[in-house]
Amino acid sequence: MSQTVQAKQQQIIEQNVKNIKHYINGEFVDAASGKTFANMNPFTNDVINQVAEGEEADIDKAVEAADRAFKGPWGRLKVKERLAYINNIADIIDEHIEEIAPLESYDTGLPISQTRKMVARAANNFRFYAEMVSARMAGEAYQVDDEFINYTVRKPVGVAGLITPWNAPFMLETWKLAPALATGNTVVLKPAEWSPITANRLAEIIDKAELPAGVFNIVHGYGETAGASLVAHPDVKLISFTGETKTGTDIMKNGADTLKRTSMELGGKSPIIVFDDADFDRALDACTWGIFSFNGERCTANSRLFLHADIYDEFVQALKERVDRIVVGDPMDDATQVGPLISTTHFKNVQRYLDMAKEAGATIYSGHVADAFKRGNFIPPTLLLDVTNDMTVAQEEIFGPVLAVMSFKDEDEVIELANDVKYGLAGYVWTRDIQRAHRVAQAVDSGMFWINSQNVRDLRTPFGGSKSSGIGREGGHYAFDFYTETQIIHVALTDHHIPQFGKK
Ligand code: NAD
Repeated sequence: MSQTVQAKQQQIIEQNVKNIKHYINGEFVDAASGKTFANMNPFTNDVINQVAEGEEADIDKAVEAADRAFKGPWGRLKVKERLAYINNIADIIDEHIEEIAPLESYDTGLPISQTRKMVARAANNFRFYAEMVSARMAGEAYQVDDEFINYTVRKPVGVAGLITPWNAPFMLETWKLAPALATGNTVVLKPAEWSPITANRLAEIIDKAELPAGVFNIVHGYGETAGASLVAHPDVKLISFTGETKTGTDIMKNGADTLKRTSMELGGKSPIIVFDDADFDRALDACTWGIFSFNGERCTANSRLFLHADIYDEFVQALKERVDRIVVGDPMDDATQVGPLISTTHFKNVQRYLDMAKEAGATIYSGHVADAFKRGNFIPPTLLLDVTNDMTVAQEEIFGPVLAVMSFKDEDEVIELANDVKYGLAGYVWTRDIQRAHRVAQAVDSGMFWINSQNVRDLRTPFGGSKSSGIGREGGHYAFDFYTETQIIHVALTDHHIPQFGKK
């Protein structure tokens, strides 16, 4: 990393990293209890800052502010006025990409070349939903025998609770916030406790965009306390959740008493299938990127590779060479391709899976972490070879830079193997046989599937998983079904017949 770039990043961090408060009713405030917890740097494991530890009392205040804003100034805005705020947020994010990206990398360990793209995408999330609401948030009308017209309108639901994970925090927070606000709701966000910094940068941006107080609120804290209080609050009308499958089931149980509407974006263990007729080099690029980008902490990571037996040896050899050459290092360095995992707890989890793989008889092939980086939570890019699909490491989400590699002989066998897992988030196939590609795509149980492609998606398309990977779809106009209430209005156009009970 050049010294100028390093100095600039250091300056951004020094200017922006302060202790983290909640953002409630347009103000940055301490936790009601005064409690804080320490936020750690994944690269050094030093304490970065202290974070307000929210509990029920903080959630109550934030929900009250959001409810007031919903019933007051925000709810009274014309759609055009509301969307002007949303576009303004996008513009302000764009102006600050070079400052938000280093903060995100500093807080999460994600390589800066990747966080820059995530932040740019965050601005697009707002711009996209401003456009979608103005162009596509429409109702339907039904003419009924010239006697009635029935039509639907979409109305905001009220206070939306957003609960987000640490693996792409800024991008995922905006992914939920943009449609929630653009459709007219107000929001209480509970960001992940391991990655609080850029959430507050978002609050500062929203403050700068001068949204009415209470429209957007943040309560930091742990899932079991702050998160659970948000889910249980009777005035919170919906919970959009992204995180682990187990947490998703807890949230659904906890939200049942208040009949919470929920959207669940959960874990994954997605297959990538490479046939012997595939474009070898492109499949190799996509497979390597798909598992090792975002440090492997990616919900749609292709963490199970199924190689046709005829290309197994050659492909594994090529993967080993890639793993040897992947640049593991300081997340703030532009050249870094894989950085440290988010926390020591997560590092130990991933390490535990590697131990399990060894015990089960798998062969481990790993890249290299320089001695200088040993303080950080580094797991090098790793291949698990001699794996069978029934091993825990082929079934459970590891959420690190670890690829389980298996082989197959024919299409039927690989479809069975691909589906023999509890998750169903994403899938990928590489083959030049276009009929086979579509057959495989439709036979794999997953919410999303890519043919001869890395994981790229247009914002208009639905996003979400099947089986234990989620319930519901977000993205595009699909988000309207979740973030709005559809009301049907029946209008009589004539003096139609009405039964006359009790008339003389
Ligand atoms: P997590 O479930 O541990 O935490 C996610 C959020 O939920 C955090 O803010 C946490 O504080 C909160 N939380 C925890 N317990 C809670 C409770 N009882 N009530 C309310 N909130 C609670 O997940 P994580 O470790 O932060 O993130 C990694 C997981 O997220 C992986 O499983 C990954 O696959 C998944 N993920 C899924 C998608 C997707 O779109 N499907 C995208 C990104 C990440």
